[in-house]
Amino acid sequence: MGAAPAEAAAVLSQSAPHPAARKRVKPYRRRTHPDGSPAFRRAVQFLFLGLNLWMGVEFYLFVRQFETAGAAHFPRPAGVEGWLPIAGMMNLKYFLATGEFPRIHPAAFVLLTAFLAGSLLFRKSFCGWLCPVGTFSEYLWKLGRVTFHRNFHLPRWLDIGLRSFKYLLLALFVYAVGSMPVRALAEFLDSPYGLVADVKMLDFFRYMGLTAALVLGALVLASLLIQNFWCRYLCPYGALAGLAALLSPFRIRRAPDQCIDCAKCAQACPARLPVDVLLQIRSAECTGCMECVAVCPAARALEMTFVPARRAVPGWLIGAGAVGLFLGLVILAKTTGHWDSPIPDQVYRELIPRARDFAHP
Ligand code: SF4
Ligand code: SF4
Repeated sequence: MGAAPAEAAAVLSQSAPHPAARKRVKPYRRRTHPDGSPAFRRAVQFLFLGLNLWMGVEFYLFVRQFETAGAAHFPRPAGVEGWLPIAGMMNLKYFLATGEFPRIHPAAFVLLTAFLAGSLLFRKSFCGWLCPVGTFSEYLWKLGRVTFHRNFHLPRWLDIGLRSFKYLLLALFVYAVGSMPVRALAEFLDSPYGLVADVKMLDFFRYMGLTAALVLGALVLASLLIQNFWCRYLCPYGALAGLAALLSPFRIRRAPDQCIDCAKCAQACPARLPVDVLLQIRSAECTGCMECVAVCPAARALEMTFVPARRAVPGWLIGAGAVGLFLGLVILAKTTGHWDSPIPDQVYRELIPRARDFAHP
């Protein structure tokens, strides 16, 4: 995605004062009520991070019981399929092509659908509010800022070039899934590799090779130094969310009459968008995090707006909407029997101890 010309203004060293900050501050009406949405966002972020950690532990225990030939006490948390985006995309294609609800890894399909619907309605809120990797990434750059007293910004040409990379990765995935015949998709998911794709994912982290560990270490280091390095440049899920979010009816809008050009919003924006000069934020990079609105000192200068009605909405509505939609779809899938894969324990007992031997078909 190309950056808006004005976006170049945001590509500044963190330590340099924003140009607009040097302007004379005009008289203004100070905001009386602080915006509580960043605190709400943090609570949601930690809730979903905790949920993912808990699911990770549950899934580890589920896998270990079959690896150690123990009795099957621990149920499989189907939510781990949120970590199988390719299976989600395969199932989405399968569903669109056949009208049948996918049988294997249905939760991957439900979670991808919830994620897409959330992005279409509530901007890229999945990244800014729910995604555990996004949360981890955010706290890494915050830690980096405390440790090194600043974050670093890449030159504009490199920033734009790298930002395109996540769309390229997404295009590769879409091509790979799009070019597979529907029957081949079903056969892949029904193969031993497909059935234990989640165990393969766990094994990637459990038995990480030196190269993978070095790459992961480099990503963590880059994330300490550069804001949202993974999300901004590499995450294909974020690329998909950003594209869907272009159709969202919610947008940050700035009222130039109320705005005092203090540039606090642009300085607070983790996506480094030029919020202080644009009238509305259409960018695919906006996560609806509400940090810009929270720091704005002028009443009604900057608001999240429901564009069709041109009405300002409270910032928490974005997060509450995303969480409500997400949980609503998960509960609907659970109560209607579209959440768990119908794979019997004896199949897991046979496949899990051999999971490392299965190669991509
Ligand atoms: S424009 Fe505002 S809501 Fe969007 S990413 Fe930047 S700070 Fe967050
Ligand atoms: S929108 Fe608010 S924070 Fe941004 S420049 Fe205007 S007054 Fe400052």
